[in-house]
Amino acid sequence: MSSDTRDVVVVGAGIIGCLTAYLLAKGGLKVTLLEADSVGSHASGFAFGEMGAIDGAGLPDPLLEFSLWSLRRHEPLAKELFEVSGVDNEYQARGRLKLAFNDEEARAYKKDLEWQSKVTELGVEWLDSQEVVKVEPLANPECLGAVYLQRAAMVEPYRHTLAAAQAAEKLGVESLLRRATGLVVQGDRCLGVTFENGTIQAGMVVLAMGPWTQQAASWHGANIPVTPLKGQILRLQHSTQRIRTSLHYSGSYVASKPDGLIWAGTTEEEVGFDEETTLQARDKIMGDLLKMAPSMADAELVQQTACLRPLSGDGLPIVGKVPGWENLYVGTGAGRKGILWSTGMCYGLADLILTGRTEVPGVHHLDPARFQRD
Ligand SMILES: Cc1cc2nc3c(=O)[nH]c(=O)nc-3n(C[C@H](O)[C@H](O)[C@H](O)COP(=O)(O)OP(=O)(O)OC[C@H]3O[C@@H](n4cnc5c(N)ncnc54)[C@H](O)[C@@H]3O)c2cc1C
Repeated sequence: MSSDTRDVVVVGAGIIGCLTAYLLAKGGLKVTLLEADSVGSHASGFAFGEMGAIDGAGLPDPLLEFSLWSLRRHEPLAKELFEVSGVDNEYQARGRLKLAFNDEEARAYKKDLEWQSKVTELGVEWLDSQEVVKVEPLANPECLGAVYLQRAAMVEPYRHTLAAAQAAEKLGVESLLRRATGLVVQGDRCLGVTFENGTIQAGMVVLAMGPWTQQAASWHGANIPVTPLKGQILRLQHSTQRIRTSLHYSGSYVASKPDGLIWAGTTEEEVGFDEETTLQARDKIMGDLLKMAPSMADAELVQQTACLRPLSGDGLPIVGKVPGWENLYVGTGAGRKGILWSTGMCYGLADLILTGRTEVPGVHHLDPARFQRD
């Protein structure tokens, strides 16, 4: 363990902490990454790993440009992290079909389609049920149609996080498996981070503690509203069937992954910091799976996982300096899009720390100061 002062201590080794640590080290800073459990052991390691949800909170305004920038950055980043770390995050371009089964669903999707179809780089269009089955033979032919997003992409989320962590280590980032317990402060500056039986001195601190970021409120006193939103995923084995695209319906999804398994999710559960899997979630996900792809009825369940998304008070990520502090930063709150948005959030945060400004479009909308104005 180092006893010298670090330029930056990053708390939390999910994707936000690991990628920010890598980018700060690339910018020439001496960085320590502090993690309570292990790298990617929560949402970042157990997400679905799709980058294609160009709808929901913040879309199209104010985060369309931010989301497109984030999506574009993934392919070159995957190559860069592989070159530095040797870990392949299994980035792949993958079409995405959001199925509608009745007129009401189709009407609701077509509202978003009005603006999505103008974003030519995404390649979004409406397909009728016959066209859906041509694109994805395993999709339920009884659907009415689907929104087809041709240029979505996927990574294996644990490998994405591991690649960032190992690339960071290659650039000299020190990793410590310790639970941070507070800040050492002097006026409006933090001088370090405390953990059980120790302290690290730091020139700056970044809080990237996912849904646990809220627990640091007593350390700094600012309002950074983040709550846990539990989600569960099933991994299944099917001897013959392989889904080419990803299928979505009613907040759930399914895709075949490079590990040879079929991953199907998900739930949205407000149950605090509970990360246990449940039978109700298994049944709900299986029901949605069979609606999307009926031939999965004979797939065999191999694994069920549960983890917690960090959901911010307004559904947008929280990135920037903690109000009232000179050298304390935060990166969290990406909810269901933390893998997609990880690039925009971490490049934006690293730029702000290294130079005080960023070219990543839309990062100013993520400033934590927005929660202090009310
Ligand atoms: C089921 C599910 C599916 C998902 N699918 C997708 C998807 O397809 N696409 C997408 O874009 N997003 C997806 N997401 C969302 C995405 O996974 C999250 O938004 C993202 O991983 C959050 O990353 P993070 O680094 O902010 O938090 P986390 O991954 O939670 O990391 C925070 C880390 O901080 C550590 N920590 C906390 N407190 C302390 C402390 N006191 N000291 C030290 N360390 C601490 C924790 O142990 C943890 O490792 C999904 C999420 C879930 C739950």
